[in-house]
Amino acid sequence: MRILLLGGTGEARELAHALAGERGLEIVSSLAGRVADPVHPGGTVRVGGFGGVEGLRNWLAGNRIDLLVDATHPFAATMTEHAAWASAALRLPMVRVNRPGWTAEPGDRWIRVPDLATAARTSAELGDRILLTIGRQGVGAFAECPRPWYLVRAIDPPESALPPHHEILLARGPFTVAAESALLARHRIEVLVTKDSGGDATAAKLVAARDAGLPVVMVDRPPAPPGLVEVATVAAARAWVTEYAAAHRIGPDDWEK
Ligand code: NAP
Repeated sequence: MRILLLGGTGEARELAHALAGERGLEIVSSLAGRVADPVHPGGTVRVGGFGGVEGLRNWLAGNRIDLLVDATHPFAATMTEHAAWASAALRLPMVRVNRPGWTAEPGDRWIRVPDLATAARTSAELGDRILLTIGRQGVGAFAECPRPWYLVRAIDPPESALPPHHEILLARGPFTVAAESALLARHRIEVLVTKDSGGDATAAKLVAARDAGLPVVMVDRPPAPPGLVEVATVAAARAWVTEYAAAHRIGPDDWEK
């Protein structure tokens, strides 16, 4: 059974590794190619966009894919939408691995906002020294904010327009609470801006912000396409895939048809 695994997350790497150990499954992992030095999942990897829904559809058919697993980031909404369209058009089964979002705890001062533009306005009203941890692609939404100073943390340097007062900090998680608390103190941060990515790898900043009593502007997730089959964990995705494969017994004989 041939599986296209749309990746770019820790879950996708873990799942590629787990499924590679299953008999009869052949996994091709796909990365967007955005990060200059990505962590590779191992096994067969292809890199780069497919060329929209049509490109993906052609790629899936041309590579005789039997099942599509979307383990992209919760905010990679375009890729998820394209995958949903292409799989529906080809009647390919698809499952999405979507880790749960974060939930506020006592002591948290979170302000939930629907998008980055609202995050830019809201955070500028809350303070003058802002830590942006939204990935490099969203920084352009803050470019028109003339007053605050921003510490922009990202894996690679942003290519979009930047706010006039900023410093770039290149770093890749996971981070510890102690390191995050030290970062907030060192830069006298007054507001944290983050997307509701969920997961453990980058959650330490939320604990550090709570400990420091800082407000957190939390960008909500984009809506998922309707009718998507979703699981929350790598273990559940692995079970879903292996059960599907066992039920359908797809193997080399089918590839010749
Ligand atoms: P996106 O906005 O949903 O996708 C934009 C385009 O990038 C897609 O239409 C597709 O191009 C290409 N693409 C995205 N993911 C791909 C994949 N796994 N394999 C091949 N092509 C892919 O995606 P994004 O938010 O830019 O994220 C890009 C990658 O970074 C994803 O792999 C995602 O898992 C990872 N990531 C994203 C975030 C985030 O906050 N957005 C955070 C961490 C990691 P075509 O239309 O040409 O096919």
